[in-house]
Amino acid sequence: MLRRITSRAFRRAASNYVPIEDQMFGINEEQIELRYQFRKFFENELPESLLRDIDKNDDFPGLRDFLKTMGNMGLNGPGISEEYGAKDNPIKSAAIIGEELSRKSAAISMSYGAHNALNVRVLDANGSHEQKLKYLPDLISGEKIGALSMTEPTAGSDVMSMKTTAVQPAGKDYYVLNGNKYWITNGPVCDTLICYAKTDPTSNAGDSITAFIVDTDAEGFTANHIPEKMGMRGSPTGDLHFDNVKVPKENILLGEGAGAFVLMRGLNIERLLGAAMPVGIMQAVVDQSFPYAHERKQFGRPIGKFQLMQGKMAEMYSSLSACRAYTYSMLKSADQDPEAMSNHECASLIMFVSDACTKVALEGIQILGGNGYVNDYPVNRYMRDAKLMEIGAGTTEVRKVILGRYFNDYFLD
Ligand SMILES: Cc1cc2nc3c(=O)[nH]c(=O)nc-3n(C[C@H](O)[C@H](O)[C@H](O)COP(=O)(O)OP(=O)(O)OC[C@H]3O[C@@H](n4cnc5c(N)ncnc54)[C@H](O)[C@@H]3O)c2cc1C
Repeated sequence: MLRRITSRAFRRAASNYVPIEDQMFGINEEQIELRYQFRKFFENELPESLLRDIDKNDDFPGLRDFLKTMGNMGLNGPGISEEYGAKDNPIKSAAIIGEELSRKSAAISMSYGAHNALNVRVLDANGSHEQKLKYLPDLISGEKIGALSMTEPTAGSDVMSMKTTAVQPAGKDYYVLNGNKYWITNGPVCDTLICYAKTDPTSNAGDSITAFIVDTDAEGFTANHIPEKMGMRGSPTGDLHFDNVKVPKENILLGEGAGAFVLMRGLNIERLLGAAMPVGIMQAVVDQSFPYAHERKQFGRPIGKFQLMQGKMAEMYSSLSACRAYTYSMLKSADQDPEAMSNHECASLIMFVSDACTKVALEGIQILGGNGYVNDYPVNRYMRDAKLMEIGAGTTEVRKVILGRYFNDYFLD
């Protein structure tokens, strides 16, 4: 009861936000409390003036400290055993935190997500006990930053055509990596990198790729920042070079040739946890544009009184609610059995919420009129951040290809 009162009291205090009817979306009391606590925490940690500077300078110097703070609070390593340093942190709760973080800053949330979903979770799902004991505690505490590199300048959607090679010299217990990875979130600042490389460069078959854990202090590894991103500014994006980088054989995940399996398994969890980001961005858009529609007057009335504006708000709100319900129901299943999540369902979820997010963000700008078109109002940033959700973790088109293939296989084979 006390919890319920606390949540309601906080909700009243935050009445300039559009209320979230969590109880309608299968969220329990504890998770409702978590949401409001983290809303408050991110409000304090990430004031709007800081977020504006991060966006303007495309730089967040406090990223490492932020990930450490998240580690101290037990918020890294969702769904991972306490044996490896994680605290009790179910996937669904982690997604609510990711949603609240995205509501403040999608860029910081993307770096947090790359660390946890792309690196820590992939290590946990595919690493040996020894690998996990060696790498996970420092990543989960936030002492070290993680990233994952599959994309290359000439291998994006067609990831199997990657050119980075890993060759094991005869009689040696290490592999030598050469190549270039591109667009890697956290790449310029990471300590522990999962890197996919061809162990059979003559083939594009599933078993031609191997996944390696790379310590980025290894000789021959260099990383540059990719500048001038349209959105997600402040989340470091890297152009990584491997020039005869030696990686011990013991750093292979699951064995030589298992890279494509590791990759596909990782993409499912990336898409699932990633769906919380568009939900958070959409909530930020309505938080900003709906109160604005009730403050801004034209023709002697708040613009929110005009039916065309009401229709816009109604559609934005129901899109957000549909995305939230879809995301939470999938995350509940992921908590029960993350391995049971299928490729086409995860692709469908992220496709649906990302598409809705861009549309809602554009409508948010429309509600603000000219004020939506300048950087003084964060709704502009929300739209620039939202667009990435249709590109990263496989584009909208690739997600459609996955669904199309699934139906072809189901009905034709
Ligand atoms: C900010 C940012 C962060 C990123 N972070 C990471 C990261 O941490 N790690 C990582 O490995 N990668 C990362 N990426 C890379 C991302 O996954 C790729 O950008 C994405 O997979 C698309 O690849 P591409 O950019 O080469 O586009 P392309 O593959 O060249 O696609 C261009 C266009 O062609 C379309 N297209 C391609 N193939 C088909 C097809 N078969 N059918 C129909 N249409 C098609 C695409 O949908 C797209 O519209 C990041 C990218 C960005 C921008």
